[in-house]
Amino acid sequence: MNTALLHTRCPELERTLPFLRLGDGPTPVRELTGTTRNDLWCKDESGYGWGGWGGNKVRKLEWLLPEVRRRGARTVLTVGATGTNWGLAAALYARELGIDTVLALIDQPEDEHVREQLRRLRASGATIHFTRTKLLTIAAAPWLFLRHAHGLRLPYYLPAGGSAPIGVLGYVEAGLELGEQVAAGELPEPRHIVTAVGSGGTVAGLALGCALAGLRSQVLGVVVNDTLPLAASDLNRLADQAATVLRERGAARDIPPLRLASTRAYLGNGYGHPTPEAAAAGDVAAAAGLRLEPVYTAKAFAAALTADLDGPVLFLNTYGPRQ
Ligand SMILES: *Cc1c(COP(=O)(O)O)cnc(C)c1O
Repeated sequence: MNTALLHTRCPELERTLPFLRLGDGPTPVRELTGTTRNDLWCKDESGYGWGGWGGNKVRKLEWLLPEVRRRGARTVLTVGATGTNWGLAAALYARELGIDTVLALIDQPEDEHVREQLRRLRASGATIHFTRTKLLTIAAAPWLFLRHAHGLRLPYYLPAGGSAPIGVLGYVEAGLELGEQVAAGELPEPRHIVTAVGSGGTVAGLALGCALAGLRSQVLGVVVNDTLPLAASDLNRLADQAATVLRERGAARDIPPLRLASTRAYLGNGYGHPTPEAAAAGDVAAAAGLRLEPVYTAKAFAAALTADLDGPVLFLNTYGPRQ
């Protein structure tokens, strides 16, 4: 199926909001048994994406890359940390459309997971600048734009994690998809949906998509990043901006109130810093057949296992390694 669910619901969107399918949906849902929580389910985004990397960034690119193309840009400029899954996905999927990627990377605690990701980034064809800190990245921005301009055409800027309002639509799609899976009886309606918050687009889109699908699920964002403003109010504002993108184009006029909350209880010492809870959760996940990583998904899964939540609890797995 090549049509976005949003386009099926609202055909007039198709003219002004182009969509390019980059992976196979619906992504699978299954019950996770043998953990410490009963009535725990998983919607697994790890297989989403036809290119050399998967996971939650691909659905964002399905809306962002056509917009980049529509604006006539030949290069995208984006930011992330040295282990960025977002930068890797952007570089690989943009390359397939003949669009170059420039990455400005800030430091994060280095471990084997990060070093492996850096090797993938170097092989992706992206141009990499190690700008080390957020402040130095902001200071270097004018130079980066000019350095990578094609004539008068500046690079198209994509924010960290692809969490621009248009990128958020990727997880509105996933929320609508989940609504169809609940309606088809593939899983019970979740009381809570738990997933990681790195730049916020995933939870913002999910909460909006669930509301549009008529689900009453409460989305709980597990904040794993201390370098961006990611309070519940920030996340709700991002969801509102995505809703405005739809409303301005005549779609989604009556949106029920969003159910979106967040917790910082699983962050530990900050972005990329390991926690014992996450390490333990990663082991439990592995025994249930889920491969997680320490920065995002293991912290979110720790919350799915141990937070005081009524079930059914749905864990959204956002990690999409290949091989
Ligand atoms: C980026 C990322 C997230 C967080 O998604 P956001 O939309 O940036 O909040 C979660 N898990 C993984 C594996 C990621 O790479």
